[in-house]
Amino acid sequence: MKRITIAIDGYSSSGKSTMARELARRLGYTYVDSGAMYRAVTLYAMEHGMASADKGVDTAALVKALPEIQIGFSHPDSEGVQHTLLNGRDVERQIRSLEVSELVSPVATIPEVRERLVRLQQDFGRQGGIVMDGRDIGTTVFPDAEMKVFVNASAEERARRRLKELQQRAGESPSYEEVLANVRERDLIDSTREVSPLRKADDAHELDNDRMNHQQQMQWLIDLYNKIADGQS
Ligand code: C5P
Repeated sequence: MKRITIAIDGYSSSGKSTMARELARRLGYTYVDSGAMYRAVTLYAMEHGMASADKGVDTAALVKALPEIQIGFSHPDSEGVQHTLLNGRDVERQIRSLEVSELVSPVATIPEVRERLVRLQQDFGRQGGIVMDGRDIGTTVFPDAEMKVFVNASAEERARRRLKELQQRAGESPSYEEVLANVRERDLIDSTREVSPLRKADDAHELDNDRMNHQQQMQWLIDLYNKIADGQS
């Protein structure tokens, strides 16, 4: 059977990474978390004095430093999670912090950053057999993807999910209100930026995450995959 390209886009913390990772595992495909790549660039900027909560992002300095930033992924760990590597260093935990979350959307509006990461993402997908999640995968990175999904969920539900993730993966426990404000802020920046704003591709299938539990979501994705893969063979 032909190994297709699967693009999963949606708002922050809509549960798309969990779904995308599991779908890739079930199909024996490669999973790429494109948001982790924007987060890794943001962490680099923070660590090199180019981004902070009070001063914002020094775009010129970051653009100049881009050739020095290498991003990759480790082999999956015992739980099947690939860790993000920044210049060879495992930064999986650091990139999930609230501080990175608060600076990542401004960094992701920089056209040069997007151009570089989109090219890298397209390289990952050359062979097919890939599930990639993000904001612009179905519209910009893989406009010809055979299967496109757009995940919807309310801001409140997404903030609850994000709070849990922050506690489990970054060891932080901010208030629910703080997380909700960050989710809303990122929605606004992501959907109103000039380059590749977050929007549903015309040919994407919409999944409403508020109404389905995890098992139902996976069944929905597998059914859609089978229908599309049948049509390809
Ligand atoms: O998916 P995640 O929430 O980890 O992504 C972090 C941020 O990276 C998003 O809020 C968005 O600003 C940016 N991003 C993007 N394009 C992508 C993936 C993520 O602009 N394809």
